[in-house]
Amino acid sequence: MSFEPILLKPIPDDDQIDVYEKHGGYSALAKALKEYSPEQITQIVIDSGLRGRGGAGFPTGRKWTFIPKDNTKPVYLCVNADESEPGTFKDRQLMREHPHLLIEGTIIAAYAINCHQAFIYIRGEFAAEARLLEKAIAEASTKGYLGKNILGSGFDLNITLYRGGGAYICGEETALMTSLEGGPGYPRVKPPFPAVAGLYGCPTIINNVETLCNLPPIVANGADWFKSYGTPKSPGTKIFCVSGHVNKPGNYELPMGVSMRELLFDYAGGIKNDKSLKAVIPGGSSVPMLTGDKIDVNMDFESLAEAGSMLGSAGVIVMDETTCIVKAAYVISRFYQHESCGQCTPCRQGTLWMYRILHRIEHGKGRTEELDLLLDICDNIEGNTICPLGDAAVPSVRTSIRLFRDEYEYHIKHKKCMVELGPRFE
Ligand code: SF4
Repeated sequence: MSFEPILLKPIPDDDQIDVYEKHGGYSALAKALKEYSPEQITQIVIDSGLRGRGGAGFPTGRKWTFIPKDNTKPVYLCVNADESEPGTFKDRQLMREHPHLLIEGTIIAAYAINCHQAFIYIRGEFAAEARLLEKAIAEASTKGYLGKNILGSGFDLNITLYRGGGAYICGEETALMTSLEGGPGYPRVKPPFPAVAGLYGCPTIINNVETLCNLPPIVANGADWFKSYGTPKSPGTKIFCVSGHVNKPGNYELPMGVSMRELLFDYAGGIKNDKSLKAVIPGGSSVPMLTGDKIDVNMDFESLAEAGSMLGSAGVIVMDETTCIVKAAYVISRFYQHESCGQCTPCRQGTLWMYRILHRIEHGKGRTEELDLLLDICDNIEGNTICPLGDAAVPSVRTSIRLFRDEYEYHIKHKKCMVELGPRFE
C-alpha cells in the first residue's frame, strides 16, 4: 500500500541546488563522468531496460545507439518537455519540484551520446516551470555541472531552454525539431529518423522528461536495482497521473505493473461519492477506453496492450456512472480536431468530420447510420497519416462506440443523454 517514490521524493525546496546536492544530487553525474565511458553509460541504460516514458515505450538505451557510428556532425539532445497529452501532468510536477533531477539526467544522457548542446523544449504554457529550469540551469552552470570541462572531465555541455507556442503537435518529435529550428510545428515524414538526421540535419536524440529523470538513480544504483522494480519487460517505476472522478486525483509514482484497482482505490482514494466506475482511459486521451469492470489489469506496457488499451503517457482518466460517454468522446474529438496541423488529409478532414458528427449526436441531431460512418472514418485515418496525431484521435471515439453503443443510440433516438447527472465539460 505504501511506496517510497524515487523521482517524486517529497523533498521541500528541491528546486534549490544546495538542497538537491544535500540529498545526493549531482553525485550520479560525478560518478558517470569519473567511472564510466559514454559507451558504458549507454550499456547500463540498455541493461536497466528503461523504456521511454513519453508514451511510445521505446527502449531508451537502444534509441541512443541509433546514432550512426561514423557520424562526424554535431549530436543534439532534445528534452521533450512539451507535455500536452490530456490527462497527463507528471513532467510538470517533476520540473516544478525537481528541476535539477532533470538537468542532471540531461547531462548524463548528453555525455552518453557525445552531445555538447542540449535543448529543453518546454510547453509554452509552463511559464513557472520554465523560470525554474532557467534558474536551475544557471545554478548548475555556476557549480560547474554545465559549461566547459564539467567537473574536470573534459566533457562540455550547454543546455538551452526553448519555450514552445503551446501546440500539442510539437510534442511529436519531428514537429518539436521543426519548431525548435524556427519553423511552424509541422511533423516530418520518417525516415530519416531523428537519430540519423534530426535537428539542423544532424543526429538528434529526443527523450521525455520522466525518462531522463530516471537516469541519475539508474547510474547511482545500477541496472539491477532499477530492474528490481516493475515487471521484467516494463522495469522501474512509473508516474501515473490520475484525474477525473476519484477522491484523490494526482500523480502517483509506483512500480510498473501495479494493478489499476490498487492505483485507483488504494492510492487515489476510490471513486468519488461512492459512485460506480463506468470507464477508464488508462494512458492519456490517445488510447482506447476500458470499461469499469476491467480494472484488474496491471499498469504496464504489455498488460494494458493485452487488455486492449495502452499505457501511453499513463494519464489515467477516470469516469464514473454520471459521465456521458458521448460527451466525453465529443470533447476529446474537439481537442484533436483543433490540434491537427492540417498537413495530411485523413487527419485534417477526418478529425473535423468526427468532431462535427459527434457534435450533432451530442446536440440531438445525430442519425443512427452515423455511428458506422464514425467507425469508417476511424479506419480511414488510422495508419494513413504523417504523424501519430491522426492515429491518436481514433481510439477514444472507436472504443466509445464499441463499448457504449447503447448510449449513442439513446442519444440519437431521444435527442438527449441517458445520464441525467452527466458532467458538463463546456
Ligand atoms: Fe498534421 Fe495530423 Fe498529419 Fe500529424 S497526422 S502531420 S497532426 S495533419
